[in-house]
Amino acid sequence: MKTKVYYGEKLFDPRWIEKRKRILHRDNNQCVICGKTGGKLHIHHKQYHFIKRLQKHADPWDYQDSLLTTLCESCHSRGHYRYKVPVKYI
Ligand SMILES: [Zn+2]
Ligand SMILES: [Zn+2]
Repeated sequence: MKTKVYYGEKLFDPRWIEKRKRILHRDNNQCVICGKTGGKLHIHHKQYHFIKRLQKHADPWDYQDSLLTTLCESCHSRGHYRYKVPVKYI
């Protein structure tokens, strides 16, 4: 939920659109938890990075592919409700 606000205006950045496309393709355009295809798929960050030197969070496309995963809307919100995404200070 919070991520939506945080990433809000960045979701239309071409770097994110490219990254998102690649992750969706890797995950066969389906939710990795329930296998749902189509509809609105989200890319979830398993970890957030906070760059100490710049005192800011890394941009959403600035993550290695292994930290990103495809989820449907309901698995995504359920996941965020249950777990807090760990923040790594880099
Ligand atoms: Zn799902
Ligand atoms: Zn997420």
